[in-house]
Amino acid sequence: MNTIIEPFKIKSVESIYFTTTEQRKSILEKACYNPFRIKAKDVLIDLLTDSGTSAMSSNQWAGIMQGDESYAGSPSFFRFEESVKSITNMPLVIPTHQGRAAEKIIFTILGGKGKYFISNTLFDTTRANIEFSGAEGIDLICEEGKHPSIPAPFKGNMDINALQKTIVNIGAENIPMVILTVTNNSGGGQPVSMQNIKEVQKICTENKIPLFIDACRFAENAYFIKMREKGFADKSIAEIANEMFSYADGCTMSAKKDAFANIGGFLAMRDLDLAMQCRNLLIVTEGFTTYGGLAGRDLEAIAIGLQEIMDEHYLQYRIRSIEYLTNKLIEAGVPVMQPAGGHAVYIDAKKFLSHIPVEQYPGQALVCSLYEQGGVRGVEIGSLMFGKYDKAGKLIPAQLELVRLAIPRRVYTQSHIDYVSEVIIEVYNNRTGIKGLTIIEETPMLRHFTAKLSPVL
Ligand SMILES: *Cc1c(COP(=O)(O)O)cnc(C)c1O
Repeated sequence: MNTIIEPFKIKSVESIYFTTTEQRKSILEKACYNPFRIKAKDVLIDLLTDSGTSAMSSNQWAGIMQGDESYAGSPSFFRFEESVKSITNMPLVIPTHQGRAAEKIIFTILGGKGKYFISNTLFDTTRANIEFSGAEGIDLICEEGKHPSIPAPFKGNMDINALQKTIVNIGAENIPMVILTVTNNSGGGQPVSMQNIKEVQKICTENKIPLFIDACRFAENAYFIKMREKGFADKSIAEIANEMFSYADGCTMSAKKDAFANIGGFLAMRDLDLAMQCRNLLIVTEGFTTYGGLAGRDLEAIAIGLQEIMDEHYLQYRIRSIEYLTNKLIEAGVPVMQPAGGHAVYIDAKKFLSHIPVEQYPGQALVCSLYEQGGVRGVEIGSLMFGKYDKAGKLIPAQLELVRLAIPRRVYTQSHIDYVSEVIIEVYNNRTGIKGLTIIEETPMLRHFTAKLSPVL
């Protein structure tokens, strides 16, 4: 087979700023060993997130010029609504300024003390919005999903038996919603199979619990289903996406992911009563129902991006770029999550830095080393992000200590990715000298965004 090439030409470019290792050492110190605190211009290759970092197409930019900024009933809204409906077949579409705004609305309405939301794995903002409402989130990832180094085709699946047991234990009346995150971002960008979606829906229906999809990466998930699940090879991505959404009562979406947009999100659902409550809250917190915190031009960019993302040449290149980097790392012996996920490479920091105890945040230590070595910025997905404290103030660590290198959509070329692999391998070969970190300042929620750390001497 020929090389899979970037399925686009480049019309406009942005310069990258170069720094030296010495400069980066001092930048890191000033940023208190938290790359969220580093200025983007001090980053060479930015793999902090794939959220809102996509390169938009010339068609999207043309759409932006056609954005209609009417307060109510803008034609841009109707194009947006039509695009969302064509994928989800959900009649009620509510724009929001990003994914977490959709989450804030739905969990404010359905959450509260004594309620439980069950998921394969809740993303960090989803969990935070659930907990902020007073409710609790429960992750029930399948057994394969708990073992980073053992490959399996659908490691994002929910554990069906655990779901059944949990519903019996907690009582269906205390579970306002089950949420399937596709692909499973915090669990390694691993896909959920159509079979699993169907099984979860069956249990939800039997227990009268609504099923929502956290649809941020619906197209990447659909592509994995096409490649890996029996019976889908000849179906189009749109057909697969339609089927995925057909089993759900609603969805939340961040358009900063699989809509190639730099901002935006939405809620879509079938229940009119719930949609009315959502719209009431939307007007208080986001804006009128036909713009929801977005400009008309953003709605245009999303409407177009949602269709572009389902192009199979794009998805093939997308999934292949992640696999390409993952394979290079596997060849060099670097412990990574297998198989490659949809939007990011996940390094197993617990194995990579086995000399650093979890109380010293090996994931964060690795993130800092990658920056220092090569100006590559990733993010820790481990005990800094998800760790809690017990009553005695001792850290309750996360299940996994991962470092995520998320690849922005249509932004970097193969040589950028080659460079990233060189940096990681260099750090791996010198790993024994890397030191752990300790937290010196933190907030009670989503602490990883702002925490300050210092090296353990
Ligand atoms: C990014 C993301 C969100 C939140 O969306 P924002 O637009 O960043 O607010 C929710 N769920 C998943 C799975 C995500 O990846």
